[in-house]
Amino acid sequence: MENDVEKIIATLKKTTKEEKELIRKAYRFAKTAHQGQKRNSGEPYFNHLFETAKNIAELDMDAVSISSGFLHDVLEDTDTKPETIEKEFGKEILFIVEGVSKIGNLRYHGADRYNEALRKLLFATSKDLRVLIVKFCDRLHNMETLSFVPKEKQERIARETLEIYVPIAYRLGIRKLSRRLEDLAFPFVDKEGFDEISSLLKESHDERLESLEKFRKKVSKELVDSGLTNFHSDYRVKTIYSLYKKYLRYKKDIEKINDILAMRLTVAKTEDCYRALGIIHSVWKPQPGKIKDYIAFPKQNGYQSLHTTVFTGNGDLVEIQIRTEEMHKEAEYGIAAHSLYKAGEKNKKEIMPWIQTMLNYSVNEIKKNFLSQRIFVFTPKGDVIDLPVGASAIDFAYNIHSDIGNKMAGVKIDGKLSAINSILKDREIVEVITKKSAKPNRKWLEYAKTALAKKHIKNNT
Ligand code: MN
Repeated sequence: MENDVEKIIATLKKTTKEEKELIRKAYRFAKTAHQGQKRNSGEPYFNHLFETAKNIAELDMDAVSISSGFLHDVLEDTDTKPETIEKEFGKEILFIVEGVSKIGNLRYHGADRYNEALRKLLFATSKDLRVLIVKFCDRLHNMETLSFVPKEKQERIARETLEIYVPIAYRLGIRKLSRRLEDLAFPFVDKEGFDEISSLLKESHDERLESLEKFRKKVSKELVDSGLTNFHSDYRVKTIYSLYKKYLRYKKDIEKINDILAMRLTVAKTEDCYRALGIIHSVWKPQPGKIKDYIAFPKQNGYQSLHTTVFTGNGDLVEIQIRTEEMHKEAEYGIAAHSLYKAGEKNKKEIMPWIQTMLNYSVNEIKKNFLSQRIFVFTPKGDVIDLPVGASAIDFAYNIHSDIGNKMAGVKIDGKLSAINSILKDREIVEVITKKSAKPNRKWLEYAKTALAKKHIKNNT
């Protein structure tokens, strides 16, 4: 078993001798402390600690985080005293282990405790992001072994994962985690939906993969012929839960979803992204309205990439995502890629506004607005406005400024005149037309989804 920790260590980049020694020490300490304990599955409890630490290492986190992964349950489940942890491993690791234990004591029972859990989670994060990362990786392994947990607990844990952990991981840009967590939770929360989409996928998967492989070769050849040689191409398979959500949005017409499999191109420099896009569009016709420039206009969570969907020539549509290596890392690891947890004042400045926003949301706001699904729409200048799903152009107007909302006379969505009660969709460009004589109407309350818009409409009608 001693070899196992060496396997983790072997995957680490830029780790000093002392740091490696710290990880080994935490490994041995946890193994001894949890000696004889078993998981629900019957396997040694230590496996859980090992898997948690491994998950943390896979996110490219530092030695302190990985060591804390090994130690995260010693206070809770063994006789180990906090003083011992501090003496053996230092204040930093003790802080993280205590933080993770505190979060672990929270249980999800309906709305209030749920909000409480959320606030505590965020509070812990604001002091050291690593608390949250360790907790996420702990949850990841618990989700991977959820089938061994008594049935009556499974749904609660899965729901908590989907409703609390996934949105936070997503918001932090740690998509590698949020995707895995939601796919693991999905079958426990909605077995029927999961089975339905799984069987649909099985039917069409091999065929799609084969035609995509052919197309990928053609694209690579075109790029090379045009002189772009420094790139890497592969596929991105849409995760089952995000596919299911889209499937519902498309009224269960799976034929209309073109990005179940997408092609991904990683290039060296930002300008190469645009070059590759140009080469591709000169050969394959893009589908109108599907060209997205998330490089110039990153998503709220920092995601950057170019997306396009092209006609392959044999009736198929394929989505292509083009990004640099750096953007890819950002897309997968988000805030975890920034080493923001490594204290420095500058790093704190970057992360604090985000944490502050999360903490400042009143409990109800969090419940109503923050954790429900969000859409991101744009002003004509390219500013990103973050709204809840189902928000209308009225919400958009009030979100920009109360005067804009109060003087709203019309709206253009993606350049087209539209009704002001139009429900906005992700990534639309929204332009509010104002008139001095315009006034809000009581009826607007029916179309307003955000508390902010409702408040202003009530106050002004
Ligand atoms: Mn644990």
